Amino acid sequence: MSRKKRPLSVEGKKWVPSIQDWSWIITIAWMAVANVWKPFGLFGFVCMLTPIITAASGRGKMHCSRVCPRGSFIGKIGSHINIGLKKPGFMTSKNFRFALWAIMMGSFAVMLVIFIPRGLYATGNAVLVFMEIATAFAVLSGILFTPRAWCTYCPMGFTTERIRGLTRKRQRD
Ligand code: SF4
Repeated sequence: MSRKKRPLSVEGKKWVPSIQDWSWIITIAWMAVANVWKPFGLFGFVCMLTPIITAASGRGKMHCSRVCPRGSFIGKIGSHINIGLKKPGFMTSKNFRFALWAIMMGSFAVMLVIFIPRGLYATGNAVLVFMEIATAFAVLSGILFTPRAWCTYCPMGFTTERIRGLTRKRQRD
């Protein structure tokens, strides 16, 4: 089936072509290597910073819709294993999304404060475990609801949405 071509330029900004057919491999490769060599867990910062930098460049959710390896990963799993339950309405509410964002970002910050003084190995491992837990929730959401249900309340998606709002407001002012 031919896939609808998506524009390479959105709101005057150049977007990269989608790599989400295969970017799930990055998630698996990262986790596999980092489980063997823990400092590689720090690559998780790249996963967190890329959507933020992309949104700050005025490209809104380009990372989410064209690049995100985790989004691609959960999409792949959810398209094969899916129960198709109806997602509870509260999960899309702003309050829930903000609460989840605050809990996850807060725990991530506390974790860094605890583990950074213990060195690269411990910090890499902590970042990896944190990301693995988040990915497990994302996969579970994809199996229970729609394949990319997690993207509705993902803290990084929430962050990029807020940044997109700010950049649009700045352009309007
Ligand atoms: S919402 Fe989160 S998991 Fe989904 S594509 Fe965006 S950054 Fe990736």
